[in-house]
Amino acid sequence: MIITEFTAEKTNNETILLMWTTDPLTKNLSFDVLRALNDGDDFILISRGEATTFLDANEDALLNEHVRYKIKCGEVYSKEVIPHNIDDPYTLGVAGDYLWQLRAIPLGIVSYVYCRANIESACPECYNATLKKRVKSSCDTCDGSGTIKGYKGPVKTYINYSQIIRGDIELGQIEKEEEIVTAQMSNLPIVNKGDIVIRSNAERYIVNRIPDYKYMTTTKNEKFIVMQKVILKKLLKPHEAYSLEVTDV
Ligand SMILES: [Zn+2]
Repeated sequence: MIITEFTAEKTNNETILLMWTTDPLTKNLSFDVLRALNDGDDFILISRGEATTFLDANEDALLNEHVRYKIKCGEVYSKEVIPHNIDDPYTLGVAGDYLWQLRAIPLGIVSYVYCRANIESACPECYNATLKKRVKSSCDTCDGSGTIKGYKGPVKTYINYSQIIRGDIELGQIEKEEEIVTAQMSNLPIVNKGDIVIRSNAERYIVNRIPDYKYMTTTKNEKFIVMQKVILKKLLKPHEAYSLEVTDV
């Protein structure tokens, strides 16, 4: 097993978001998050748990441009990562203010996001590695392809959900009601098509299309996403999204 897709990014003036996954996809692992503030400093343990994300709000870490992270799982270590930082306090401030407003308004709902990993593993439910083929005709764990992509998460954030658009979809003989919701969120985390948004245990959505990203230009002429407008489709059970763990929804 290796730790892969390990990234760190300063998303606003208050948080550095770390995300990673494993290859192959393995459930119920325990990860140590380690941080060193300066070159030559020892890495110290700052968090331990099963999540494959961590939000670092430590002030020294936020102010120190030499801060580095690595992830440990058993005897396996990730590479070391220095957070990507646009180094523009004004633009980072806009993103942070927007998140702060979402947290403050009554309709900013505590939500959890799981971002789709990029690597593909064999589906543990329907793919037989010895026979090298799918051994079930339908599968609730993967989308029926025999391969599965894990998720990196959960990331706690605040989302303003807007109107519900209902429509009927035809699935063979059965008609099911489809629930589409529009939502506004900050850049924490930046989502993409296929990511999962958990509004509550019973309300889990998939990001249904590429979000409408709202950019600002930094003093160094970089484009930086400060907010996102997303279209979400409510997932019907059974779906793998309902097995994703969250603590307090
Ligand atoms: Zn499957």
